[in-house]
Amino acid sequence: MVNGQWSFERSTRVMVVGCGALGNEVLKNLTLMGVQHIVAVDFDHVEIGNLTRSVLFRKGDALAGRYKTDVIAERLRELNPQIDIKPIIGNIAYDVGLGLVRQMDVVIGCVDSQWARFCINRLCMRAGVPWVDGGISELEGTARVFVPGVNCYACNMGSEGLKDLKRRMPCSGIIRRHEEAGSVPTTSLIASIIGAVQVQEALKLVQAEALADGSIESLCGKMFYYEGEHLTNRLVEFKAWDEDCAEHERWEPVVQTGVHLSMTVSEALSILRNELAAQEVEISLRNDCFVDFVMERATDSQWEVMLPGRAVEDFVMQHERLGGIPLSGLYQHELRRIGNRFPYQDLTLKALGLPGQDVLCVMADGTERFVEMK
Ligand SMILES: [Zn+2]
Repeated sequence: MVNGQWSFERSTRVMVVGCGALGNEVLKNLTLMGVQHIVAVDFDHVEIGNLTRSVLFRKGDALAGRYKTDVIAERLRELNPQIDIKPIIGNIAYDVGLGLVRQMDVVIGCVDSQWARFCINRLCMRAGVPWVDGGISELEGTARVFVPGVNCYACNMGSEGLKDLKRRMPCSGIIRRHEEAGSVPTTSLIASIIGAVQVQEALKLVQAEALADGSIESLCGKMFYYEGEHLTNRLVEFKAWDEDCAEHERWEPVVQTGVHLSMTVSEALSILRNELAAQEVEISLRNDCFVDFVMERATDSQWEVMLPGRAVEDFVMQHERLGGIPLSGLYQHELRRIGNRFPYQDLTLKALGLPGQDVLCVMADGTERFVEMK
């Protein structure tokens, strides 16, 4: 290895999903290693309990209830005033546009649930971008690399694991968003170790030539396992690519259009018909649904909702009358196809729950097309 090769190019773009203990380490390392373009994604606030293992957070951030991504943006700018950091306050499952992921050289996952990993994998496979996963508990940690065409997180879960996960997916029937809570105890030590391995692997993934000539070797296809109590390190085979896996669909080619989030459904459909030269177009909501009403099964009483599926559970909980009905006693009416027959043509695309810079999956005269929003 030639000295000096171990730094990132100025143009490298990295997205980090999850800004907890591991995310803090990864973001700190990326910045110190010279990465200039970073997107940080997390939906949470800083809490006092985060402070013992998160190098970028301060007590004042927790007391002020600041968002983790906002704090991180500020602290990384202190480390490198030139850094271009985009904080996204949101959930990887719905709030990150595929167009943004497509701009990345690599994505680093610092999340603590299977569902979040599944969502990162889905976005990366659609965008054709490699990703590095990290997982930590108190004294143990793992790192893995997934590359479209070679190794897939969903394939490694096996069909039973995948079935079980999909049963727990939001919007697969009535309101069933019950993530396994990320309450595993962790320490700053294990976060340092795994976070360093993840950034090292990310750095390899952006060095195509050195990877190709074999002077460096990626972790792709293996799992790095570290256990602190007996100081055991292991590399185990971890590779699966099943040609039938539904998660491999690469969304390309992508057409750029003038459609943007603040347009109404009818405006967007009209532009799409025009730009795709199609008689009939229909946007498929692929990550979530839109719910117009919920109904009590026993009485057929209806309540208007008009929210993306992910927001329905909170809506129900906060609604005085609905809150008293068990979730299993409710039915939610879901819409996923947004075409001429969609009954709410004046709603904006934002109101449907789509994120900025997303790529829409559009059926245009029966052909699937991928369309990036402005
Ligand atoms: Zn797969």
